[in-house]
Amino acid sequence: MTIYPDPDSEKAIMGSLVFCIHHKQGCKWSDELRKLKAHLNTCKHDAVRCPNKCGSQIPRIMMADHLAFTCIQRRAVCEFCNIEFTGQGLEEHTGTCSQEPIYCEAKCGARVLRGRMSIHRVKDCAKRMRRCVHCNREFSADTLSAHGASCPRSPIPCPQRCDIGPIPRAEIDNHLREECKALTIPCTFRDAGCSFKGPRHLLENHIESSIGSHLSLMVSLASRQEKQIQALKSTVSKLSTNYTGTLLWKVTDWAAKMVEAKSKDGLELISPPFYTSQYGYKLQASMFLNGNGPGEGTHVSVYIKVLPGEYDALLKWPFGHSITFTLFEQGNGGSQGGVAESFVPDPTWENFQRPSTEPDTLGFGFPRFISHELLTRRPFVKDDTIFLRVKVDPSKIVAV
Ligand SMILES: [Zn+2]
Ligand SMILES: [Zn+2]
Ligand SMILES: [Zn+2]
Ligand SMILES: [Zn+2]
Ligand SMILES: [Zn+2]
Ligand SMILES: [Zn+2]
Ligand SMILES: [Zn+2]
Repeated sequence: MTIYPDPDSEKAIMGSLVFCIHHKQGCKWSDELRKLKAHLNTCKHDAVRCPNKCGSQIPRIMMADHLAFTCIQRRAVCEFCNIEFTGQGLEEHTGTCSQEPIYCEAKCGARVLRGRMSIHRVKDCAKRMRRCVHCNREFSADTLSAHGASCPRSPIPCPQRCDIGPIPRAEIDNHLREECKALTIPCTFRDAGCSFKGPRHLLENHIESSIGSHLSLMVSLASRQEKQIQALKSTVSKLSTNYTGTLLWKVTDWAAKMVEAKSKDGLELISPPFYTSQYGYKLQASMFLNGNGPGEGTHVSVYIKVLPGEYDALLKWPFGHSITFTLFEQGNGGSQGGVAESFVPDPTWENFQRPSTEPDTLGFGFPRFISHELLTRRPFVKDDTIFLRVKVDPSKIVAV
């Protein structure tokens, strides 16, 4: 059976209204079906072959863009080297063009043509490594000159301009201290008063030729210092002087001192001087461990003498205050017993007149103060030490 087209129904179909097949892509065309074919020959959205024969089918509306940018058969010129490529060739060329300026990978900040980069990296790059010729350490080229100004091995001339010639920076200090002939240094006897100053080699001559004058400078320095020492000594002794009117005399190494006293006749132990009050009489106690006079060989003798004091001119003479010697027993309890002896000075005795010089006569006291026998029987000596108190009766002191 054969189907014959029905001219009427065909005419009806071809006359029906349709949209362009690219309606969804945005074509607004709409007309009778019979006109569609002619429309598609001009429809912006209909795809046609690329005239470069790259094989792509491209909607008319995008063809210009394709031909300019994406067609692999397009003709294109590299903006750096001006060589013409196909589109595909340019894509391969991009990123390798030797004429393209690029930043140095060492981050020196320079832009260099890619083709010259390897030369830059060895010859010009500020970040290339270079060796200091003096110390042989490596530095980047841009820090090498700063290093040169401080390199310890870099030779510099002597700052005193002596004739030694350049020497490594690290050795300059030692050179100036030990050997520089130009450096002016003071004489080693400067503190003694020598004012000579000069370069080292002249100083050596100076010292050799000035032995006499240096020696006399030293002598006068020593005597100045001696005076200072004396002044200090007298200040120290004033500071440590006892002005209370009571001397507590601690005698240590008792056994050894006793042995010595027994072997040497008349050996006298002297106490530190003390004052009866701040502006009072100056007194000193003494002790014969092996006795003296009637106590010799059997007793310990104790004496007091009046020394020339600072305020004697204002005091009443003869010295007239009673004095008590007490030798303490040493116990653990605190309530010590002891031996005590007192006397009131005899105003006619010359030792209580105002002394003009250190008296060499015996003081006033008790030749038989305590017997050796009692001394060992009771605990007067403990830890090889005794305590003797010498007390001036304060009620009878008449001082200004
Ligand atoms: Zn269309
Ligand atoms: Zn193409
Ligand atoms: Zn290029
Ligand atoms: Zn560089
Ligand atoms: Zn160096
Ligand atoms: Zn020098
Ligand atoms: Zn000198």
